[in-house]
Amino acid sequence: MKYVSTRGSAPVLEFEDVMLAGLARDGGLYVPESWPRFSTEDINSMRDKSYQEIAFEVMHPFVEGTIEPEEFKALIEEAYQGFEHRAVAPLVQMDSNLWLLELFHGPTLAFKDFAMQILGLLMDRALIKRGERATIVGATSGDTGGAAIEAFRGREQIDIFILHPAGRVSDVQRRQMTTAKEENVFNIALEGTFDDCQAMVKGLFNDHDFRDGNKLTGVNSINWARIMAQVVYYFSSAVALGSPDRPLSYAVPTGNFGDVFAGYVASKMGLPIERLIVATNQNDILVRTLESGLYKPDGVTATYSPSMDIQVSSNFERLLFEMTGRDAGRVSQLMDDLKDTGAFQLSENELKPMHALFEGVRVDEETTFARIQTENTVNQYMIDPHSAIALEAAAQHDEKTVASPPVVALATAHPAKFPDVVTKATERDVPQPARLKAQLHSEERVVQLANDYGVVANYIASHTRAGESG
Ligand SMILES: *Cc1c(COP(=O)(O)O)cnc(C)c1O
Repeated sequence: MKYVSTRGSAPVLEFEDVMLAGLARDGGLYVPESWPRFSTEDINSMRDKSYQEIAFEVMHPFVEGTIEPEEFKALIEEAYQGFEHRAVAPLVQMDSNLWLLELFHGPTLAFKDFAMQILGLLMDRALIKRGERATIVGATSGDTGGAAIEAFRGREQIDIFILHPAGRVSDVQRRQMTTAKEENVFNIALEGTFDDCQAMVKGLFNDHDFRDGNKLTGVNSINWARIMAQVVYYFSSAVALGSPDRPLSYAVPTGNFGDVFAGYVASKMGLPIERLIVATNQNDILVRTLESGLYKPDGVTATYSPSMDIQVSSNFERLLFEMTGRDAGRVSQLMDDLKDTGAFQLSENELKPMHALFEGVRVDEETTFARIQTENTVNQYMIDPHSAIALEAAAQHDEKTVASPPVVALATAHPAKFPDVVTKATERDVPQPARLKAQLHSEERVVQLANDYGVVANYIASHTRAGESG
């Protein structure tokens, strides 16, 4: 499989180079040259398979030519070994027509583990094979950082630097990152918002001298390998609920648009998906864009669901590429508009295909809180605020549509990651999984840095082993 950039002028690359590059050199994002397509029969045959077997079926077309099938199967086994549920991604029924897909049984209790665990293994393998080192630089609004550090700590070929917005991630999220003892892990608390962190990382990657000199690589949700791994649970959940005979809709708590884009990929690969519900908190740029076609970042507000406190949704560029009929010139123009004027406007022709599949629902703080309460009293189910937004969006969607197919809401984090709001809403203590308890009592390692390019670049260059002097 070959990959092209959404902006059209970066070189066409194979899977392994795309994975190691993260962002394309023209500032764009890599996407497969074409979508692999499963027949109804192919999807039917997944019904009898384990999560790991489905993962192999779904992902192997994307890595074709770079990794042998037997080796890939072994990596998949290893990646999902640390998940504390035999089904890996189990479904729970919440209402007659509503299911919850629990994606929080991995080592850091959030869905980011699904992608990060396999990415860690694939990257390490590629670097060992090449005899190279790399520096991972990433921005996190909370869960990505913890999942990345868990996947890369102690890896011989890699140093990892994670930027989080100082004071804007939950206590649990911060401790999951800062308690890693390994010498190759560096936590940076940046004095700014998540968007500042993301802009800083983009700046470092667009500085080609810095990027090459320190062998930068990215593991944010712009990394194609992560999207690929997230396509799997759309298939596993759909076949468990009767697909391909029974179409489904998905409600996806959305920030950077990676998870819901994976749902789009699943539909392109032949999975019958009726609707993809883009569920946001009050940081609702995507809902507004779906309504009016105007993509205009606003200020970021802190909410109960910090992993979705985002106004610049990086993976949306991949959807733009698709919705413009893969017109890289048009995507580049839209991105230039965004840079120059702070916004871009989609045409009717570009919005129409979006509306055919996507639907936006914004959920405010009060409603999120009420949903956490309701699930506790009605279903005796403790739910985290991100997943509550998905459930709420699914319920609102259901009221609007007649005879709609079942909805699967994605539960992206364990309630123990957000104990403050969950305890307040349910008036119960949130049970802490053992692996979390251990992390919460270890010593923290973190530096606080100014939101200043020179300061951050200098810190990374002087600590990585992959640099010119290292
Ligand atoms: C990252 C994250 C999201 C948002 O996912 P995107 O792929 O960025 O849209 C939602 N919920 C939780 C708990 C997350 O960690």
